[in-house]
Amino acid sequence: MTKFEALGLDKPLLDAISDLGFESPSEVQEKSIPILLEQETDLVALAQTGTGKTAAFGFPMIQKIQQDSRTTQGLILSPTRELCLQITNELKLYSKYVKGLNVVAIYGGASITEQARQIKRGAQIVVATPGRMKDMIGRNMVDISKIDYCVLDEADEMLNMGFYEDIKDILSNTPKEKFTWLFSATMPKEVATIAKKFMHKPIEITVGSKNAGASTVQHEYYVVGGRDRYAALKRLADANPGIFSVVFCRTKRDTQRVAEKLIEDGYNAGALHGDLSQNQRDLVMNSFRKKQVQMLVATDVAARGIDVDDVTHVINYQLPDEIETYTHRSGRTGRAGKSGISMVIITRSELRKIKAIEKKIQQEFISKKIPDGIEICEIQLYHLANKIKETKVNKEIDSYLPAINDVLEGIDREELIKKIFSVEFTQFYNYYSKTKDLNSQDSGKGDKKGSSKGDIPTDGSVRYFINVGERDGYDWMSLKDFLRDTLNLEKEDIYNVDTKDSFSFFNTDAQLTEFILQTFTDFKVDGRFVNVEVSKNPGGGGGKGGKKRRGRKGGGGGRRGGNKSYKGGKKGGYGKKGGKKKQGFY
Ligand code: ADP
Ligand code: MG
Repeated sequence: MTKFEALGLDKPLLDAISDLGFESPSEVQEKSIPILLEQETDLVALAQTGTGKTAAFGFPMIQKIQQDSRTTQGLILSPTRELCLQITNELKLYSKYVKGLNVVAIYGGASITEQARQIKRGAQIVVATPGRMKDMIGRNMVDISKIDYCVLDEADEMLNMGFYEDIKDILSNTPKEKFTWLFSATMPKEVATIAKKFMHKPIEITVGSKNAGASTVQHEYYVVGGRDRYAALKRLADANPGIFSVVFCRTKRDTQRVAEKLIEDGYNAGALHGDLSQNQRDLVMNSFRKKQVQMLVATDVAARGIDVDDVTHVINYQLPDEIETYTHRSGRTGRAGKSGISMVIITRSELRKIKAIEKKIQQEFISKKIPDGIEICEIQLYHLANKIKETKVNKEIDSYLPAINDVLEGIDREELIKKIFSVEFTQFYNYYSKTKDLNSQDSGKGDKKGSSKGDIPTDGSVRYFINVGERDGYDWMSLKDFLRDTLNLEKEDIYNVDTKDSFSFFNTDAQLTEFILQTFTDFKVDGRFVNVEVSKNPGGGGGKGGKKRRGRKGGGGGRRGGNKSYKGGKKGGYGKKGGKKKQGFY
């Protein structure tokens, strides 16, 4: 018996679950599903984003609905159109083996008559945003007077968005003898009020804060001058070539501005906020899902609907006003058991906010330094090397090969490699070699005692390059574990672990350097050489001075005059205005 079977689910659902590849129920599913299947009761379930709440109410609802009746029996209210569509899609997947079950989504910004038509054909489950639902009730386009189950999904957010009156109105159109299941990430007063007012002795379930969503997220902050926010954002992106991120701004204006600048600078970015038309928002979201957009710049309200599982980084371009909002933001990453990083770009005067958030999320932030130009160049170089290695050879090249060979005659392999890399790299290098250190002085806990460049230092901190990364199945947590176990060190001995797609970096104190290099001499895992080298950059971006890095004031700011994007488009971040946007995600 599988764990899902043990919860009391029937075969059609179990088959769909197996198709979806869900191996075992999440905590909120394990707790809610048996209750909802066995009892007719109201329920309040508190669990963070990304913990699988949709299935927690979706499975039982699907199983309990009579699919041979065409009456609308289940209503799910959710705050945004995006969420509404996501829930509908999920429910359709869950019920693919339940014949005759129709799930219909109703939401604003799309044809109301078409939605009414779908309802008329018979929708046992309706998933709706409160606004459109009210509209359709008013126009007699939907009948919810016979529902058995009503779900209030993301109740805290619906109330945040001011839907209280709408919800009240909608519920007054439902029968008294129905069951209400409320799902929420948090339990502010307003949610408690709703529960008290509209529910009868609800069973309460709380999923501990140690859920998959929260504990897999590493929280980091970067202290910069207020005017350097944008430059810092670019560096964070450049230092993470595989980034797939949501960048949060506080206002629609900033959101639009930052997105525009990123696009101008050659990144695959897009904006998502309330001033865009529904159509524009759909386009952006589609590109984001397909990973054509790697940096989605969004307001909190607009991003509330985003349910994309592989977001690697959440970047807080500015901190939100409400601490609560930070939890929602960071919950966009580290979903479905994956790890993620939530970065905060912050000025010195805002530092105290970090303390408040730490208390709220019960997790400590790591103070990090914005990587300097040299570290970014190094990362990009390795990344480029890997990209070349992975590139499939284009057959069309063959016919030009003799001519190319003629041109390159007499250049040996090493020389050729150097030249190829210089073609790709010099612009990038030139940009970064002239930029300043963006970090505000004394930016906090500072775990790096910036050691000098060049020779291996004997005190301070040393940064290492290691030739394994995300592609080998590591994230910062598992790589740290691997290093700790291999080296037989304590957890604190290894820090600043940054995994990239095919390589990674980490730091130790300098006394350990010899030991580490020795351990990783001729070291193999699964028959493959794992190689560790001292990184050119000592402090993971913390170093100061150094002849390559000094130089013009202000450098990091806006666009560069460069006339060509670093290969792959977005990475260079200094492409000309209007430079071509590469759709590649590499
Ligand atoms: P929430 O509503 O709590 O934010 P979702 O219901 O949107 O979370 O689920 C987040 C993601 O996790 C979805 O992509 C969903 O398909 C996936 N998921 C849900 N339950 C499981 C499970 N038991 N095993 C693996 N993945 C799951
Ligand atoms: Mg949800």
